[in-house]
Amino acid sequence: MNKIKENIENIKQQIDQAYHATYHTNNQANKSSSTNRKNPITLLAVSKTKPATAIEQAYLAGQRNFGENYLQEAVEKIAQLSHCPKLCWHFIGPIQSNKTKQIAKNFTWVHSVDRAKIARRLNTHLKEYLSEEKHSNSCQDSALNICLQVNISEEPSKSGVMASELFSLAEVVDNCDKLTLRGLMAIPEKNTGVASYEKMQHLFKKLQAQYPTVDTLSMGMSNDLNIAIAHGSTMVRIGRAIFGERD
Ligand SMILES: *Cc1c(COP(=O)(O)O)cnc(C)c1O
Repeated sequence: MNKIKENIENIKQQIDQAYHATYHTNNQANKSSSTNRKNPITLLAVSKTKPATAIEQAYLAGQRNFGENYLQEAVEKIAQLSHCPKLCWHFIGPIQSNKTKQIAKNFTWVHSVDRAKIARRLNTHLKEYLSEEKHSNSCQDSALNICLQVNISEEPSKSGVMASELFSLAEVVDNCDKLTLRGLMAIPEKNTGVASYEKMQHLFKKLQAQYPTVDTLSMGMSNDLNIAIAHGSTMVRIGRAIFGERD
């Protein structure tokens, strides 16, 4: 078995254990019964700086969702991997407004929307693109799936909307006809303990109560996936634990 495939299997096992520990489902007993509850957490493989060949290995091991941070690099790999029909691309990096056209065109999910201007531009560009040509990305229906990035640890230099402005941004996205508001994304500051995770869980529940399309809490990376799952994460973004350390 190759290393990437092995890493994916290990991470999936870790996700499963964290899920069952959190929701107190009896993993062992359920395994053999018809009520076996599969954990609903999506694994997003973060492939930034890694070559298309590594992504393809993960794809062949059954991995479908991939996250990229840098647009130029991503667009090249997306073209190289156009022969993988079920591959689904997520943009997770900071967004400059001059990049929204390419993002709308190439990605199915965007996790890092943190201001109204970006949301409106993504919506406009996607509309233009859909009216221009047939798009071939098969995991994409016509709408772009949006998570709002929250600056949950309130770090001055970091991306993300402040919690106090989250709900007005959510309304903007919800009003964009080509965007589907799916949820929230956060990168809690290292070593802050559980406070940021608890706040995210609370905001997510509140958003979910208001918008029926919201089903995704994108939280947890290689080093914090257990604590993220313990606080309601539904999608973990894992890079190094799948592809190895980045240079
Ligand atoms: C790089 C990155 C990840 C993955 O981090 P690892 O520590 O490699 O698991 C997840 N989310 C975002 C936004 C990232 O930039």
